[in-house]
Amino acid sequence: MFSHYEKIKPELLDILMQLEQFYMVTHLNKNGSITYTNKEFLETSKWTPKRVIGKTFWQMFSNDDADQQEADKIWRHVMKGKPWSGTVKKISRLNEPYYVNMTMIPVIHSNDELISVISFEMDMTKDVQLQQKLEEIASFDYETGLMSRHNLETTVNQLIEKKDGFAFVNIAIDRFYTLQGFHSNESRTEIIKAFVNRMKRFFQNSQIARIGVNEFVILTNFGDWFIEGFNDFLKRHPIYIENVSIPISTSGGIIRYPENQKTYTGLMTTSVVATKEAIELGGGRFTTLSTASHKTLNRKALISQKMLSAIDHEHLQVAYQPQIDSQTGKILLYESLVRWEDEELGTIAPDELIPIAEENGLIQRIGAFVLSEAAKLASTLYKAEEPTIFSVNTSVREFTDPKRNKQILKILEASACPPELIQLEITEMFAFKAEEETSVSRQMKDLNDAGIKFALDDFGTGFASFRYMQTLPIDKLKIDKLFINSLTTHEQTTQLVRGMIQFGKSMNMFVVAEGVETEEQAHLLKEFGVDGLQGYYIGHPITKEAILNSIDVN
Ligand code: C2E
Ligand code: CA
Ligand code: CA
Repeated sequence: MFSHYEKIKPELLDILMQLEQFYMVTHLNKNGSITYTNKEFLETSKWTPKRVIGKTFWQMFSNDDADQQEADKIWRHVMKGKPWSGTVKKISRLNEPYYVNMTMIPVIHSNDELISVISFEMDMTKDVQLQQKLEEIASFDYETGLMSRHNLETTVNQLIEKKDGFAFVNIAIDRFYTLQGFHSNESRTEIIKAFVNRMKRFFQNSQIARIGVNEFVILTNFGDWFIEGFNDFLKRHPIYIENVSIPISTSGGIIRYPENQKTYTGLMTTSVVATKEAIELGGGRFTTLSTASHKTLNRKALISQKMLSAIDHEHLQVAYQPQIDSQTGKILLYESLVRWEDEELGTIAPDELIPIAEENGLIQRIGAFVLSEAAKLASTLYKAEEPTIFSVNTSVREFTDPKRNKQILKILEASACPPELIQLEITEMFAFKAEEETSVSRQMKDLNDAGIKFALDDFGTGFASFRYMQTLPIDKLKIDKLFINSLTTHEQTTQLVRGMIQFGKSMNMFVVAEGVETEEQAHLLKEFGVDGLQGYYIGHPITKEAILNSIDVN
């Protein structure tokens, strides 16, 4: 009855039969012809049992050259007697594409002769489609169809790689929220759309991204004098809302690659500062590099300079934001967020601080400081019989040190904090690196064995594949606030977030939504089955003292 398994040892047979319940299984002879498939395979591939026998491995892939070459590559690999595993695109008998996670195992006889190949496949179509959708969403702004910030970075880096010169123009609509005609969400959208239309007409053959509600970036080859003419153009082509013309002007900063700045971050930060200058000067104008770039460069240099002493003198603080269980409303944990207030520099937000710390190498020290603060607090609460979990953000740069895991455990030991009370948040970029570098994934596994949990932060904004979810010890997903932002205003996002929650749960993950700001959002997320909630609606980041007071420990 199991003729296709006839040369396989009986003790293996049982295992194989069990696997057949969960995987699509195909047997191939050494020429690549199909000799057997199970029912699961037939269901997905839409083949009938009679027709599929004798078809070849290659016929299960599309005729596309790239797909055929991929099939060839896999087959050659297996023919060397080595197993192969990965995600591939196949086509059904009806020519519809589907994606599988496929493992192919060559069956070799005792005399070293390859007898057949067994392939196990798991349908991944939904996951791949979700990923494609996520990528699409991360790349385009819904309201205007312009590039998103995420896509802008990629585009700028491509231009830089090609060494093409261009102007990076940051542009903001002046006094947007007090514009005449700004009555409702609809009129706001209308103004934005009409404005985008004017930008497209004026900056022909340029690339435009939306990076904020009323903030845009234009990549263009036009000269400064032409760009500066945009405000005149707006005067000549006014925007009408309900037949009333709305006077609109803009402020902007023009920074040139390669003359003024050589990196995406450099272009972005200096052009933002230049725009601020223009606004301070009364708006309706553009500023070029000069003063602006010096200000940012000076600020960056100053931040970098003062950072070490701020760490040494404990001028950094940590704020803690609660995350609750969506069902019971109970606090699940607090996320630790670094804070730095400097007399001269003002508030240095983590988004400004962390990239500089990654550059100058102090990220190791900052990470250790935040972890140590969180661990001390966790330990105090633990001793007061109020065990509370603390989550700490980690940068992949910290793990370039092959002994980072040992340091982390030492820090916990020093404050007598049980590792079970610490969670580390990593990004998709981190996961991607961890997959590439065994040292990072090994350290993660060690920490996980010691009791530390890992959560994937900013889910949906990275580009990594979903494979890391199976290979790395991650058991929590945090859906990025970008998605929660437009959850209740864009039908597409609503469906997407629902899909992300379902997907996370199907991978056995605990799914958290972050950046929850309204009751409406919280309600919908609960309805979709989200496990945890975090955001200003739930609670703002608070001080250590506030936590201690709330539970009466002193
Ligand atoms: P994140 O990990 O996504 O942290 C959440 C950020 O969103 C925090 O900003 C938090 O204050 C803010 N937030 C929380 N709820 C809401 C909300 O309802 N609406 C909005 N609009 N924002 C909300 P923060 O503290 O400025 O941190 C920014 C980022 O800096 C963090 O993003 C994290 O990636 C990084 N970061 C912060 N502290 C550390 C740290 O100690 N180490 C490392 N490596 N990165 C850190
Ligand atoms: Ca985080
Ligand atoms: Ca986040």
